[in-house]
Formats: sequence, structure tokens, C-alpha cells
Amino acid sequence: MSDPALNSGFGPNVNPDIPRPIILVVEDEAGIAETIHYALSSDGFVPEVCATARQAIECFAAQLPALAILDVGLPDMNGFELFRHLQDLPGGKQVPMLFLTARSSEIDRVVGLELGADDYIAKPFSPRELVARVRVILRRSQRHTTFSGEVKNSEITKQASKAIETEAKNLIQCGALQLDEERRLIRFHTQALELSRYEYGLLATLMRRPGRVFSRDELLERVWDDPGESFDRTVDAHIKTLRAKLRAVREDEDPIRTLRGVGYALRED
Ligand code: CA
Repeated sequence: MSDPALNSGFGPNVNPDIPRPIILVVEDEAGIAETIHYALSSDGFVPEVCATARQAIECFAAQLPALAILDVGLPDMNGFELFRHLQDLPGGKQVPMLFLTARSSEIDRVVGLELGADDYIAKPFSPRELVARVRVILRRSQRHTTFSGEVKNSEITKQASKAIETEAKNLIQCGALQLDEERRLIRFHTQALELSRYEYGLLATLMRRPGRVFSRDELLERVWDDPGESFDRTVDAHIKTLRAKLRAVREDEDPIRTLRGVGYALRED
């Protein structure tokens, strides 16, 4: 039996009946834009590539994408300004956005994240990593429902569907860590951790956005009831006790990354 999708010009496992998510890609370097275009389209997405911010604004206004990938260094406007412009367009705040940055200093990354963007990728990046990141963000923003079954053979999709199953039970799995929000419980290597309220809040916050760097202020804001009464070192102190509890389970593993002078993130590997 012949599969009509094989002759459609789309990826071999793409079902032509399922609408494919549009990904706006704003990148002025032709080589990088081409790589991203290829990676996304072979994974079942419809990339719309724009080389300037101006073009991107028009494109975004004409049709809302499922997600936007914004290069920080654009010829007519920087990616952060573009992000604000796109957010101001109707429906703009609902579209997850991911920054591409060539300047890998942590400050740049945090500036990007403090704007409320969903993630960033530092150049050089692997196309596979980019596509995986796009899938994860879409899944989190619950825009995945129409295409989660499309690319059945890719390993990423297997991981994604496993993650979707886990999510259905209200569990978030990050490596050996598992967050059960309903029970307010975190397991590490299947062992339930006995955490204080703030330790739980900190780890749960990091786990909801693996890899995302949180500044101390952001953590205070999200985890503490009265952040004004607390200090940066309060966060550090609780991270320290949290790490000790994780070490008690696995001495050689530290799932929390410290970004000196910036904050904390959950390791993604
Ligand atoms: Ca650029």
C-alpha cells in the first residue's frame, strides 16, 4: 500500500490530514536559517523564515505561529525589541518564543528570560537540540495536541509521548527527579524526598522549566509568600539544604546548576 505522505514533499511520517504547526523563524544568517528550516520541516513543522524583524512582525500579524524562534542579533532591531513588538500584537502573548543567541554570556540569557520568553538556545546549537526544545515548549504550552502523533519513529517523539503520558498523571519527570504536584511530593531515583515547604517550592519551580535559569529574585518572588522580607542568601541557604537531601540519595549527582552571580537552573541531561 502506498502512503500518500511519501509523495507530498513533507517528511516521511507526516500525516497530511493533521495541520502542521507553523514555526516563525527570525534569523538573518542564511546558513543558520536554512539549517533550522530543514530541521523543522523534516520533523513535521512548517517553518516561516524571516530575515528581518520588520518582516517577522508582518508575518506574525498575518498568521499567528505556534511558536516563534527569534535571533537576538537582527539587522533592523534586536531580538528582545522584536519580542516586545510581537507580544503587543493580538494573540502575541499566547505564542511561546525562544531566543537564539550568539553571545553566550549568562547575562544575555537571563535578559532574554526575564522578558518572559520561554527558552533560549546558544549558538552554535545542534538542529536536533533545537527541534527537541521546540517540541518540549509546545508540549508545555499545550499546543501539541494536534501533532503529537505525527512523527512516530523519531526518538524525540517517543520521549515526548512518554512525557505526555507522565503529564496526564500530573507528574513531571526530569531525569531521575519526579514531581507529583497533586501529592506535593518529589522523588529522586524513586525515593521520596522529605522537603521543607521552601525546598519543595524551589525544586518544583526549577523542575517545571528544566534548563531555564532563574535569578534569586525570581525564585524569591515565586516561592516565598513575602519576598520583600527575604534576601538572596535565603535562596542560597535553602538550595544548600536541598542539595544535601539530594546528595543523601545519590552522593555523586547534583541535578541543580549554579550560575555564579546569576541564579539556578535544573540540569537538562
Ligand atoms: Ca544574526
